[in-house]
Amino acid sequence: MSTSRITVARGDGIGPEIMDATLRILDAAGAPLEYDYVEIGEQAYLAGHTSGIPEAAWETIRRNPVFLKAPITTPQGGGYKSLNVTIRKSLNLFANVRPSKTYHPFVESPFPDMDLVIVRENEEDLYAGIEHQQTSEVVQSLKLITRPGSERIIRYAFEYARAYGRKKVSCMTKDNIMKHADGLFHQVFREVAEEYPDIESDHHIIDIGTARLATAPGDFDVIVTLNLYGDILSDVASQITGSVGLGGSANVGLNQAMFEAVHGSAPDLAGRGVANPSGLLLGAIQMLVHLGHAEIATTIANAWLKTLEDGIHTGDIYREGGHSKERVGTDGFTDAVITRLGQKPETLPAAAYGASGGSTGGIRIEPRPVERKEKKLVGIDVFVDWDARDRNADVIGGMLEAAAAASDWRLKMITNRGVKVYPDGLPETFHTDHWRCRFVPLDTEEASFDEVLDLLSAIHFVKVDVIKTEHLYTFDGERGYSLGQGE
Ligand code: NAD
Repeated sequence: MSTSRITVARGDGIGPEIMDATLRILDAAGAPLEYDYVEIGEQAYLAGHTSGIPEAAWETIRRNPVFLKAPITTPQGGGYKSLNVTIRKSLNLFANVRPSKTYHPFVESPFPDMDLVIVRENEEDLYAGIEHQQTSEVVQSLKLITRPGSERIIRYAFEYARAYGRKKVSCMTKDNIMKHADGLFHQVFREVAEEYPDIESDHHIIDIGTARLATAPGDFDVIVTLNLYGDILSDVASQITGSVGLGGSANVGLNQAMFEAVHGSAPDLAGRGVANPSGLLLGAIQMLVHLGHAEIATTIANAWLKTLEDGIHTGDIYREGGHSKERVGTDGFTDAVITRLGQKPETLPAAAYGASGGSTGGIRIEPRPVERKEKKLVGIDVFVDWDARDRNADVIGGMLEAAAAASDWRLKMITNRGVKVYPDGLPETFHTDHWRCRFVPLDTEEASFDEVLDLLSAIHFVKVDVIKTEHLYTFDGERGYSLGQGE
């Protein structure tokens, strides 16, 4: 069996304790691994590396195809970027695979039949991290959804379902509100689902989908969703299995992968020797399967299941009077798993990795090239910062009508926080200092960029503060922008 060289970060808070526990179990099981340790996280941040990752650590992380990472503390405030987001995006780890399963009756959970996998898009959405304060009152965060990014993660979810013998893929979006961004994700889901007639598929609006997950998780098998929804959903899912300490997570790209626990560095438990190492251990088991060591992964998973069955429980899952027999700390739990290597659970279904073929690493995704469409400029939204004259929409409307009169444009409407306030706004509508002013060409179907510049000059001339513009396009004749509420 060939040895795999992996990068290991011991992390912050409970990180070192649960990493040492995990590596002790891997070593005792004879996992053929060699470790390159990197120092990343809180100390690196405080030493001035705003990404939390010193240069030397980056070299190691980029060299080894697999990275086992303990939780890292992101210092609050002060311009520190999340290290997790940086690694996922820099290494193109586009798929975040988070299985959630209950171990009823040994770990208390109201849902004995829960066994699902959340496949979360890992690079786009609001995690693009493009934010701007535009006026004294208004901040914007850009939600970026791409067709190739959506296709890749959705295809990954279907391939994962096939490789692991799962029957259904459910998509969750909020496309009743975000008709373009979430609408694109849902549309790509419909297209890709047609190519997998052997896998059942359905779609849920994220709010009611989350409520169903929290009350009837047995209805779900594989869930594929956008970055932010997946982040929230997987914490909900792992919490209802009994503890966030039971969630493992794989971040998978085409050439590299990172494995970790779902939870964070739990500063409240750090240094007390009481943390549950199971989340990181389950991440490590996913890693072994990914590396092709399915047999060792199976041995460890079964020893771990037997430990749960025997009632050897850390504080987060220990319940007096239930199936818990002995309350242990991190080391006691680790020793109990090591003692049981070679044993199988008697009641819980035994693990058997590799049997259904495939691994997170074996899934190759080739998104189709996106066809270029005919793009036409049919209008422009000019965003302005305006805080005068009691914020009376008719006043700013009049000023902009006057400005437009000197150009080839017509002011169609103004919205404030997405609600139409001009013409014919309602006096009850609340107004901030941030106004979106929609202009359309006066008598042509298509505008030119020169005309955009003319309009902006005209607005500047009447001393209105332009803070940004968005072009309104059609693509092959289809509207590529949302209408204002009331437009
Ligand atoms: P957390 O997940 O660390 O803790 C939430 C709660 O769950 C706490 O009550 C904690 O005691 C409990 N808990 C977590 N892991 C446990 C375990 N293994 N055993 C028993 N109980 C456990 O979330 P938080 O407190 O919001 O975040 C703490 C820090 O972790 C923050 O700096 C955050 O940025 C960071 N974080 C890192 C990652 C990561 O590295 N992947 C993920 C999430 C949060």
